[in-house]
Amino acid sequence: MPELPEVETTCRGIAPHIEGKLVTGVIVRQKQLRWPISPEISTILPGLRINNVTRRAKYLLINTDKGTLIIHLGMSGSLRVIDAGISPEKHEHVDIIFGDNTCLRYKDPRRFGCLLWTSATINEHKLIRLLGPEPLSDAFDIDDFYPKAKAKKAPIKSLIMDGRVVVGVGNIYASEALFQAGIHPKRAANNISKKRLKKLIVAIKEILAKAIEQGGTTLKDFVNSEGKPGYFQQTLNVYGRANKLCNTCSTPIKQITIAQRSSFYCHRCQH
Ligand SMILES: [Zn+2]
Repeated sequence: MPELPEVETTCRGIAPHIEGKLVTGVIVRQKQLRWPISPEISTILPGLRINNVTRRAKYLLINTDKGTLIIHLGMSGSLRVIDAGISPEKHEHVDIIFGDNTCLRYKDPRRFGCLLWTSATINEHKLIRLLGPEPLSDAFDIDDFYPKAKAKKAPIKSLIMDGRVVVGVGNIYASEALFQAGIHPKRAANNISKKRLKKLIVAIKEILAKAIEQGGTTLKDFVNSEGKPGYFQQTLNVYGRANKLCNTCSTPIKQITIAQRSSFYCHRCQH
């Protein structure tokens, strides 16, 4: 599943190839995604120029003077910029065609993604409005996070995966950040010292930044590529490593379920 680093990499991968371009047409081959594709994408978007491409949480925002196209990649979505004349493959549901005969092509085999249009201020949109701070921004700091943690008895892992607290910390990154910070994933959020929460914030930022940096090596894959843009391998210390030995202390990694999600941790290194 595309996580925040993959979405950020997609944003950086497509932006230089579509920013400033005029949309001349839109082809929708399959409009039933997680929600039906907004009809405005076919009626309003053609004739508009792409001002820029930004990201908020795992939403890509393609901004124009008249509104914003909101794209979420869901479980299996991907985007690439190719010659509009190249025949679509299976699951390539949407083309946004530009004046230079290139197109932004959306592929999504499992169809859990979305393409929605809004003419309103993007921060007022119902999907965006209640989101917490970006993990890599200065807004996500101990002054913001500490009161939220103190107010919750829930496991710390559930708290950092709650998009109202901080966005974009998926299951893999939550497990890895808790390992780096030495915090047990089930520990009650309100029972962790300020010092340790600070360490966790640093860990979240470092792990996500490192993944985005690794993604930078795949930027060329978003253009003229035959296959799926390269989602990159992470170096994982705990996630998916049940019963394998901890890289720090050689104790077998444990797997438990927290809020229906698999969680991995080292019971010696994390408490
Ligand atoms: Zn360990």
